Amino acid sequence: MDDIAADPSHPRYASLLMRHRLEVAARKGMLADSAMIAHGRGEAFDYLLGERTTDSAARAARQALATLQAAERPVLSINGNVAALACDEMLQLANHLSCPVEVNIFYRTPERMEAILDHMNERNQALGLTVPVLGHAPDAQIPGLKGPRAACHRDGLLNSDAVLVPLEDGDRCNALVAMGKSVVVVDLNPLSRSAQQGTITIVDEVSRALNAMLELARVEGEVQVDPSYDHAAVLNEGLAEMLASLKR
Ligand code: ATP
Repeated sequence: MDDIAADPSHPRYASLLMRHRLEVAARKGMLADSAMIAHGRGEAFDYLLGERTTDSAARAARQALATLQAAERPVLSINGNVAALACDEMLQLANHLSCPVEVNIFYRTPERMEAILDHMNERNQALGLTVPVLGHAPDAQIPGLKGPRAACHRDGLLNSDAVLVPLEDGDRCNALVAMGKSVVVVDLNPLSRSAQQGTITIVDEVSRALNAMLELARVEGEVQVDPSYDHAAVLNEGLAEMLASLKR
């Protein structure tokens, strides 16, 4: 890493660190060509948020954790950007929930799948965890999706009742919602189709959102689902916080 990104006191440290993680992942063959574009879109929204976890995002993270804890068969979905940016946090959350992670990518090639699976398995071992890492042998299809991006595991995404899908594309999010699952989205863009269609959407940077959930789990253990949680209202609060930053 260059000197600026290596210095935690640098004002852009967190942002530079995330870019560096993407560069490393790209060199390992984990990313699609469009990965940097998706990241750049996220960065722009994060700038408007002030690169912090807002009150509404913290409330969404609490409801997300409670929903995943209450689920019978939760699964955490991993794509290339998520594996690059927040692999350890995804594995730690899966370990807390005693559930699998499943690698499920939009532009599926055998080489990219292998690179991401290798990375996940290496980190699983390095962290001393034994989280089941799925994606290597898909034996089912997500109804309503065409082509390789429909591929999934029967004992993973297909039969899950709650899924965490950070940085997901709108079509797949919609297909998972249509299957009747609780779909927890992490997306910095409150206007994206995924953010709008999800059951619970955390408008926050993916590693911050996951660390917020891990911290809640560490401090409080089991968290209760809030029956009065209002997805649309929380999403609108996130958008309002961004718009307010433009007026400052
Ligand atoms: P949709 O299909 O849901 O309308 P899209 O086509 O804009 O969305 P994609 O390019 O499939 O979205 O996914 C990238 C999404 O992830 C973008 O909405 C972007 O804001 C968000 N994003 C990118 N990087 C991060 C990050 N580090 N943390 C959280 N969200 C991110």
